[in-house]
Amino acid sequence: MQIVPFDSRDGLIWIDGTYVKWNDAKCHVLNHGLHYASCVFEGLRVYEGKIFKLTEHTERLFKSAEILDLKIPFDSTEIISISNEIVKKQNIINGYIRPVVWRGSEIMAISAKSSTTHIAIATWEWPSYFSPEGILDGIRLTVADWVRPSPESAPTDSKAAGLYMICSLSKHKAESKGFDDALMLDYRNYIAEATGANIFFVKENALFTPKPDCFLNGITRQTVIGLAKKLNIEFYEDHFDLKFLEDCDEVFLTGTAVEITPVSCIDKYKFKIGKITKMLIEEFQKEVLI
Ligand code: PMP
Repeated sequence: MQIVPFDSRDGLIWIDGTYVKWNDAKCHVLNHGLHYASCVFEGLRVYEGKIFKLTEHTERLFKSAEILDLKIPFDSTEIISISNEIVKKQNIINGYIRPVVWRGSEIMAISAKSSTTHIAIATWEWPSYFSPEGILDGIRLTVADWVRPSPESAPTDSKAAGLYMICSLSKHKAESKGFDDALMLDYRNYIAEATGANIFFVKENALFTPKPDCFLNGITRQTVIGLAKKLNIEFYEDHFDLKFLEDCDEVFLTGTAVEITPVSCIDKYKFKIGKITKMLIEEFQKEVLI
């Protein structure tokens, strides 16, 4: 399949209050976001024309920006209504939305507090991962060399672009070794998450997930925990090291992009795609259409 580059597509992108043609949605090469990572973003999914958890994602966008000392020049109700509007304008039925906030080009130095803050929202058709056969075979992970930083060394509660530097490096390395993604440990050597998704384990029919104290408490993660509680699945949130994987039966990732994706192995540890994972996938598919 040929992928059309993201700067050469058709349609409209909303940027700083106006819709511009997709190919005209540009910012200057000397902007602070690009040079110093003063940039936060979001990822949302559209299911059957409706945005899943729009309020939660919008709240997180504002929180991420605030943590990075960026003041979005719109309020959250405006961003919610633009998000709904652009999905309609672009005729998106099953797709993805990418809001992004960055500091502008007035000052090219570390200190740039008086610079302007910009925001853009783009959306494109992107069908759910569930449909392609094969995802149920599970994906293969390998442990990354990079570890997630402590909350004292990075703004770990923010969906900040800068935090993805080690994610891309880890995922590239995993792919070059023939894996699909990397499992990242944290600064204490506890299991943290994958490069763009949270992780869950199933052991003797109980569900486990790492405590999100140095990485994103994903909105999909929170949704899945809610579904597990509704289904009366025993649930624990704690710190786990790699030894915990030894007798796990099932493992899966959660995230807006990956939805619920089963994991078939993490290096030498193998897992089956079992009934708890399948049950949660089924419930999640219903939930996104409510
Ligand atoms: N962790 C990271 C690093 C992510 O990029 C994402 C995707 N936003 C998640 C976890 C999952 O978050 P969510 O379920 O809110 O998409």
